[in-house]
Amino acid sequence: MDRDKILLTPGPLTTTLRTKLAMLKDWGSWDADFNAVTARVRSSLLDIIHGADSHVVVPLQGSGTFSVEAAIATLVPRDGHVLVLDNGAYCKRAAKLTTLMGREATSLAFDEAESVDPDALDAYLQKDDSITHVVLIHCETGVGVLNPLQAVADVCERRGVGLIVDAMSSFAALEIDARKTRFDALIAASGKCLEGVPGMGFVFIRKQVLAACEGQSQSLAMDLYDQYVYMEKTGQWRFTPPTHVVAALAEAIAQFEEEGGQPARLARYTSNCQTLVQGMQALGFQPFLEPAVQAPIIVTFHAPKVPGYVFKDFYAAVRERGFLLYPGKLTQIETFRVGCIGAIGSHEMQQAVHAIGLALRAMG
Ligand SMILES: *Cc1c(COP(=O)(O)O)cnc(C)c1O
Repeated sequence: MDRDKILLTPGPLTTTLRTKLAMLKDWGSWDADFNAVTARVRSSLLDIIHGADSHVVVPLQGSGTFSVEAAIATLVPRDGHVLVLDNGAYCKRAAKLTTLMGREATSLAFDEAESVDPDALDAYLQKDDSITHVVLIHCETGVGVLNPLQAVADVCERRGVGLIVDAMSSFAALEIDARKTRFDALIAASGKCLEGVPGMGFVFIRKQVLAACEGQSQSLAMDLYDQYVYMEKTGQWRFTPPTHVVAALAEAIAQFEEEGGQPARLARYTSNCQTLVQGMQALGFQPFLEPAVQAPIIVTFHAPKVPGYVFKDFYAAVRERGFLLYPGKLTQIETFRVGCIGAIGSHEMQQAVHAIGLALRAMG
């Protein structure tokens, strides 16, 4: 049937018709109308973290990873030393791109089923004074763990090291308040909990560290300082902007505000997550994580104990019924993931559970 499938993935995700319709217009990248859209998006983004006094926000073309890479290159001096708090796949990606950017990276490893431990960070920083920056993934989308942002930020502040937060899958859903939580940079993207379409990221940079960022990136395109200065001066993006993505994000943010902002989004995703987990448990599925560390963003489930199970067939059987699942990212255990985010509510989650139940029955 010619109907969009519901995306139970952590981005791209299901968007509203209103957001999709915002893309049916061509914009000139130099035009004042488009510059006004960019300015409006930037100011709304700062409002979401109450960061207008303390931070600037710099949008960047590309998927979220492009912005993570740009944040590392822009914020970390070339002789800097980054400590990645590693409890999953996105942490490993951050460590890898830091190394590729020519900065020294060390990983502090934690169990994938648990949050990172701020006390272990504190102890590590006490014995290694070469660390200049800590990288934290707020919600580790690899399995869905929520990490303790405030406690990690407090340790970093006390120890005098910079904190770079990948808040890609948490921003706009979980509370992040720049007045309470100190970070040098925080990264998110258009196509996650703001429910825009993918194609741009954005990085909040603390004003106090901005000046030191000049000339630090070894890349032309991945230079947030340059992008910031140019944007402040001209109102324009340095290179061709993803115009339709920006227009869709502006419309998505308007709906986010109408819905009631971050608390309302968190409430909807929490309800999605509860509906999903309860329904799946009734079908016999077990979540991989303990509830205490589960973020209401994406849930990892153990694969069903069906003889000859392969994810590809399960995926196809659920897809046939209108829903797209996501593969697991664990190497040791067979799992799959179901996202709770996007322009969907508990009705869609109930229908998803129903579709999964039918798929399971069809597979025997
Ligand atoms: C989605 C996501 C990213 C960015 O991934 P892209 O594929 O580049 O969009 C980075 N970190 C986390 C935690 C994410 O969830």
